Amino acid sequence: MVTKARNIAILAHADAGKTTITENFLFLAGKIKSIGSVDNGTTQSDCLPVEMERGISVRSSLISFHWNNTLINLADTPGHVDFSSDVERTLCAVDGAILVLSAVEGVQAHTETIFRALQNRKIPTLLFINKIDRVGADVEAVISDIRKELAPNIAVLQSVVNQGEGNAGILSRMQNTAVPAEIVEEVITVNDTLLEKYLSGENIDNETIIAELRKSVTVAAIYPVLLGSAKQGIGVVDLLNAVIEFIPAPSGDPRKPLSALVFGIGHDRVMGKMALLRVYDGSIGNRDMFSIAHSDYTCKVTQIRRIFSGKHEEIPVVSAGEIAAVCGLYSVQVGDILGVASDAVPPLIPLHAPLLTVQIRAVNDNDYPALAEALSVLSCEDPSLEFAWLCGERELNLKIMGWIQMEVLVTILESRFNIKAVFDKPTVIYKETPTKMAEGFVQYWMPKPCWAVMRFLIEPLERGSGVEFESRVSVDKIQQKYQNEVERTIPKALEQGIKGWEVTDLKITLIEGEDHVMHSRPGDFVVATPMGIMDGLTNSGTTLLEPILGFKISASEELLGAITGDIHQMRGRFDSPTFDNGKFLLTGFFPLATSIDYPVTLSSRSGGKAKISTTFHGYEPCPDELGVVRPFKGISPLDTAKYILKARKALQ
Ligand code: GDP
Ligand code: MG
Repeated sequence: MVTKARNIAILAHADAGKTTITENFLFLAGKIKSIGSVDNGTTQSDCLPVEMERGISVRSSLISFHWNNTLINLADTPGHVDFSSDVERTLCAVDGAILVLSAVEGVQAHTETIFRALQNRKIPTLLFINKIDRVGADVEAVISDIRKELAPNIAVLQSVVNQGEGNAGILSRMQNTAVPAEIVEEVITVNDTLLEKYLSGENIDNETIIAELRKSVTVAAIYPVLLGSAKQGIGVVDLLNAVIEFIPAPSGDPRKPLSALVFGIGHDRVMGKMALLRVYDGSIGNRDMFSIAHSDYTCKVTQIRRIFSGKHEEIPVVSAGEIAAVCGLYSVQVGDILGVASDAVPPLIPLHAPLLTVQIRAVNDNDYPALAEALSVLSCEDPSLEFAWLCGERELNLKIMGWIQMEVLVTILESRFNIKAVFDKPTVIYKETPTKMAEGFVQYWMPKPCWAVMRFLIEPLERGSGVEFESRVSVDKIQQKYQNEVERTIPKALEQGIKGWEVTDLKITLIEGEDHVMHSRPGDFVVATPMGIMDGLTNSGTTLLEPILGFKISASEELLGAITGDIHQMRGRFDSPTFDNGKFLLTGFFPLATSIDYPVTLSSRSGGKAKISTTFHGYEPCPDELGVVRPFKGISPLDTAKYILKARKALQ
């Protein structure tokens, strides 16, 4: 096991300075001779051509370097919401994180989303306030916002001098003098024994406080705050030292059976598919064969690499606690587990699901099959694309997060696969939910041989509840093995409701039914379930649900009237604005469907001065005429005869 190692992710909203910080780390570690610049496209971690062009990172990239005899594996994650699924997977692979904020822009909606994800997973996190040298830097305001909007339990380890100026600097609050009272308070409030001592007037020495602070940070009970300017190289050494001091070393047992997670897939020009792996237990050696948990695939490792700033080094094994890139695993997908799915592997908790669906077309008709092939490859690398190929309709559908992701996909298709493609206008992904309680009935006993009779009760549930299933039918009426098929088929049956969208927030109860001792086959229940449920949805009627975004807008006061007018028009709502220094801050909610282009409108309205950030809030009811009701794709279970014919063929 590697104890002298740290696996961390660096996260932030776009432009906070992650790539610049990473560049500084590599320079300090002696991995590069000069610090590359994002502005000139010369950095080490942004290496796709599209990243260089746009100056943003679109994929998580992995870089390793040594600092104070410790191997640091650093995942630089994309900062744009469009690439959240990449961030989410990376969080499963690390033991700690640096969350970067800008001293000028402060806490953005995306910062908050990422922070909640880190908090939910209890990932020890260092908050780094960057850009203290930039005009407009206001460290105190950012700290106060962190306390209000992210977490009250922080320990500010440094103070700033000359902020907002080229000669800005930082001072440690932890050296020579006593630990500041406010940090002592933070530490004792999360430690009962110390709190008792403190209350009884006992003196607690600095060393104890510092040791306890360290412990509290490693369990994500306290978040240290550090300051700096990556561009000027200020505070970066302290940040690296803090990583070693506060982020725990990886745990895991190399003698246990292998358990490793594929958290990313890269593409190498020579070796092809490259899986980014975090090994939790056991180890993988070059030339080893492995099975993938929950599948029939086995695969053979052909090379193991550690990536040092653009170049790589081949290593013979990667074992518990380590992260590496592994070649040869051709059939793996992102999210696969190699070996056994042990408890050590953290579950994927989605940060932000794609909210748009879009059709993509090949510019040259002849490229259509090649485009479909390329999209299957890309959706192995990013399963959230949920690539669907409707051969009948000659449609290629993807789920996406936004414009930037579409632009990036077009560039990748052209540069890597040599295919020119264009997107249609995307549609918001609506959902539907039963409007009232109702029953659905199916009697599938023709054409023989088949027998499945069922009655379902369909009930609407609260927003965000998802799908529940219960059976009240005894196994004398419908054998358990058939009931299992019913439960297994429900997600498929709910993929499209009567308005053409996924059905959610409902409870389905199997209340009556029978099998037939001679005629029933498990497949009969697979065929019948969607018919019964669609019948129920027809009886209950469904309400369309649309995605709602939370927004934060700040602009100068004279724009307030125009902007609140826009929000009304978009069917949005907002809280009363707050004012500061001639500017207002407005928070509220609006539908994604009406606000897709709003960042562009706002930018032209304000001459680029207004700031907006948005984050997914949830689904809310939407009148049919303001949303999209679409025809069923494929053959609907309500078109009984045709549906049965097709469903039976599929089962054969
Ligand atoms: P990322 O999107 O988070 O990876 O951010 P980048 O590293 O690409 O930086 C975004 C922009 O901010 C670039 O123009 C950088 O030169 C600039 N920048 C980064 N760090 C600092 C800093 O500490 N001070 C100032 N003034 N600018 C910075
Ligand atoms: Mg970047």
